[in-house]
Amino acid sequence: MSTRLTKIVATLGPSSQTPSVVQALVEAGLDIARLNFSHGDARGHARLAAVVRSAARKVGRTVAVLQDLQGPRIRIGALPAEWCDGTGAFRLEEGQTIRLGGAVATRDRRSGITLPTTFPALARDVRRGERLLLRDGRVEVVVEAVRDGVIRALVRRGGDIRSRSGINAPDSRLDVPALTAKDRVDLAVGARLGVDAVALSFVRDAADVERARRELARLGSRAMVVAKIERREAIEQLDALLGAADGVMVARGDLGVELGPEAVPLLQKEILRKALARHSFAITATQMLESMVESATPTRAEVSDVANAILDGTDALMLSGETANGRHPVAAVAAMDRIARHVERGTQIAVPAEPPPGAPADDFIFALAGAAVQLAEQSGARALLPFTESGRTAAIVATYRPELPIIALTPHPATARRLAFWRGVTARLLPRHRDLARLFAAGVRRACAAGDLARGDVAVLVGGHALAPGGSNTLQVVRVGGTAGRSTVAG
Ligand code: PEP
Repeated sequence: MSTRLTKIVATLGPSSQTPSVVQALVEAGLDIARLNFSHGDARGHARLAAVVRSAARKVGRTVAVLQDLQGPRIRIGALPAEWCDGTGAFRLEEGQTIRLGGAVATRDRRSGITLPTTFPALARDVRRGERLLLRDGRVEVVVEAVRDGVIRALVRRGGDIRSRSGINAPDSRLDVPALTAKDRVDLAVGARLGVDAVALSFVRDAADVERARRELARLGSRAMVVAKIERREAIEQLDALLGAADGVMVARGDLGVELGPEAVPLLQKEILRKALARHSFAITATQMLESMVESATPTRAEVSDVANAILDGTDALMLSGETANGRHPVAAVAAMDRIARHVERGTQIAVPAEPPPGAPADDFIFALAGAAVQLAEQSGARALLPFTESGRTAAIVATYRPELPIIALTPHPATARRLAFWRGVTARLLPRHRDLARLFAAGVRRACAAGDLARGDVAVLVGGHALAPGGSNTLQVVRVGGTAGRSTVAG
């Protein structure tokens, strides 16, 4: 069976926490396990990380761990049980006036109901006429006035809310950094677990990313930083965010609440195009196979949505509720795997023609990687083999979107896991060799042993004499074990 190029991220949760289910997810094609720090506690996350590592070892697959921080998510506080129906829902009617503020829910004849919020400064940052969206936008209220730290608002679209429903303030400039006190504690937990990447929720600008990087450095973590694009401010700061972060996530859930669901398809295309132009990786997230929370098969519309993200050039596809709480977590990963394998066959993605802005003129890796992909495609190669210490050579090769597999050879397990985020890259561990010719020969033998190459196949090798990050300077085309090509390597 052909190699799948697009990567699969699955969120672990109540439906996917036993060793047997996690192992089945890995067997079905899981590349990145997402630990959602909006839920659960440190012990639970530590246990899950261990379960993922053990399943990856058993199956013999590289699986990275992505820690997703809660960020400054604003919520409604606890609602009294006597206000709610049997399912915990509390109805807000169109035309009703409500108040928001304080720590506890109150109701009196003069002021009506006051809903508590988890962000006391909300009243400071909102203005008359601005919208607040409750519970993923199901309920919309408009600010009428703010007095003594309490917001008075008119319900413009009614609906049910619950205790701890989210609040989005799409029209307001909230003065709240992306890294909260809870996130700092969680970052330390993630650093201890050795997570491979950290996703920052509700980032506003590059300063938020840099703050997280400083904190990671202080903790001794080398985790990559993923900026979740889910606010208007993040869209406005997209270029700077792409320059600061290692990758981005098209966080379509909150993006759709903040900017309207109809804005998401074009924004998705823009974010993915810009990420590729910056040679960053991108994850497309949320409701990709939503109906599979209940159903064993996806809808045609969901299959098209997954296909479109692949055609838009995404590196990875993400499952959230489907695998965390759904009834068919393994079937959801298997469906994504099937769709990707089928759609990739017909994919032609516009690749970056130039190095990213700001790249030093003597950084030849972009020219070298582009040339490697061209050489591989013109020589009918079966695979591209970048030899990489930090992962950068393989990652940049991946951003030229070759249609053939990229078999990255690295001495470092951590680099192998980082490369799980890049489209088309399969990483294999290979010890260092002092001599480049021996390293190349050993790499080809390793790829043959893993079934990536067979006798007679052509492969394009990219590496460097200086075995250090940034040392790639050599391109070679070989035919495995044969004599037909100009260069041959024993297979
Ligand atoms: C999203 O909003 O799409 C998203 C991925 O964020 P979360 O699920 O963490 O709210």
